[in-house]
Parts: sequence; structure tokens; C-alpha cells
Amino acid sequence: LLRLERATVRFGGRPVLDDVDLAVAEHEIVCVLGPSGSGKSTLLRAVAGLQPLRSGRVFLDGRDMTSVPAHKRDVGLMFQDHQLFPQRDVGGNVGFGLRMHGASKAEQAVRVGELLELVGLPGAARRAVASLSGGEQQRVALARALAPRPRLLMLDEPLGQLDRSLRERLVVELRQLFGELGTTVLAVTHDQGEAFALADRVVVMRDGWIAQAGTPLEVWQRPADEFVARFLGFDN
Ligand code: ATP
Ligand code: MG
Repeated sequence: LLRLERATVRFGGRPVLDDVDLAVAEHEIVCVLGPSGSGKSTLLRAVAGLQPLRSGRVFLDGRDMTSVPAHKRDVGLMFQDHQLFPQRDVGGNVGFGLRMHGASKAEQAVRVGELLELVGLPGAARRAVASLSGGEQQRVALARALAPRPRLLMLDEPLGQLDRSLRERLVVELRQLFGELGTTVLAVTHDQGEAFALADRVVVMRDGWIAQAGTPLEVWQRPADEFVARFLGFDN
């Protein structure tokens, strides 16, 4: 479904993505791990079309999308810092993508209700965004990203601010939901347990390149090098 070929992004001459090759198959869930600043968010933004490539190509469904604008790529992106619309209420935020896709008011209301239920905020549709806690806003952003059912859904630390018990519940529910909808997912997470529970495959980034990619079991059992081993917390 997604293929990156030698994708390179530079900021001030410094490569932040450096010749990255990555393929994600249809229905696959891939988690991106790596230290802060290793280029994880930049990778997602590049696939979404929000970050132009210095060189290399992005293919979706075999079509070269490298110079196709973001809104014409069938991808959803949940940002690390949510970026909710503060002037809309919760329902307006979650329903945003549905409205763009021409859903009726009644369809929107039903779907918004289901999604809020899923993320553990039932009945919150009329609440003001500013009245929500950080974790609640994050759940609204997750619901908003899920709403239009993009074929490729990219999530940047989707559960980062939530407490452990909620995270564990959502990981299980999301995995099931993605399976039911057939959604292909590329998700950044700091939490290795989450990656292990969610991912078919994990990608470990280091300074803008991919240090290792494989099934969670492969990566944990056989880290490719000392960097990966240390990152995963195996001290020697
Ligand atoms: P984190 O885990 O902290 O979110 P990350 O892996 O998502 O980190 P990126 O946000 O992709 O990292 O950033 C990679 C590097 O690129 C960082 O050093 C960052 O400072 C730099 N960078 C990102 N965006 C820009 C920009 N617009 N201009 C200049 N430098 C940038
Ligand atoms: Mg980031």
C-alpha cells in the first residue's frame, strides 16, 4: 500500500530522513520506534504530504504521490500535539473529516457517538475543547483521525498522554478495530509494550535512517546492533 523509496529530508543541510526505504503492506500495522529527534514525526509528515522530500519518492497503491498535495492522498494523520480546532466543540472536531466526505448530519452524529464511546468519552460531543484535559483531548484527536476511515492511518504518539490502564484497553480495542476496518496503520510510539501489542512489524529509527525493521519478536530477540539493543533497554 505504501512505499517510500530513498526518501530524504534535510533541515539546514542536516539530513533528518536519510535515504529511507520503507514498505507497508495493505492491512499491516507498523510501529515506528526511536529516540527523540530520530525523524519519526518527519517520516509521517512526509508520507502525509506535509513535508516535501528533498529527494526520493512516495508511492501509495503503486502510484507516485511524491508531488500530490496532502488533501489528495487517502491518508489520515493524527499529530503528536493533537491540533484540535479550539473554536469547535468535541463533536465538531470528531465530525470534521466526515463533513468533508459529505456525510449527512444524522450520519455524522451517529458516527461521532460511536467514536467517542470507543475512546472512552461517551456523551462528550457538546463539550468545549478547552474544557478537556490533555489526555481527553488526545482521545478526541484519535477519534477525529479514525472518523473518515482512511486506508492508511498514521498516528503520532496516539496514546502518549494517557494512563497505563486506558492505554492497554485502547491498544486492544484499536487492534481489533483496525482489523475489522482493514485499516493499514503506521504509528509512532515511545512505548515498547504498546508497539509489541499493536504491531505486525516494528521499525527502529536512528538519526534519520532505519536501524532495524522486523516483527516485534525478531527485533526483541535479535536486535540488529548495539544501538537497537541499547534503545530497547538491553544494557549489554
Ligand atoms: P520526538 O520523539 O521528540 O517526537 P521525532 O523522532 O519525531 O522526535 P522529528 O520531529 O521527526 O523527530 O525531528 C527530527 C529532527 O528534525 C529533529 O532534530 C528536529 O529538531 C528536526 N526538525 C523537525 N522539523 C523541523 C523543521 N521544520 N525545521 C528544522 N528542523 C526540524
Ligand atoms: Mg515526533
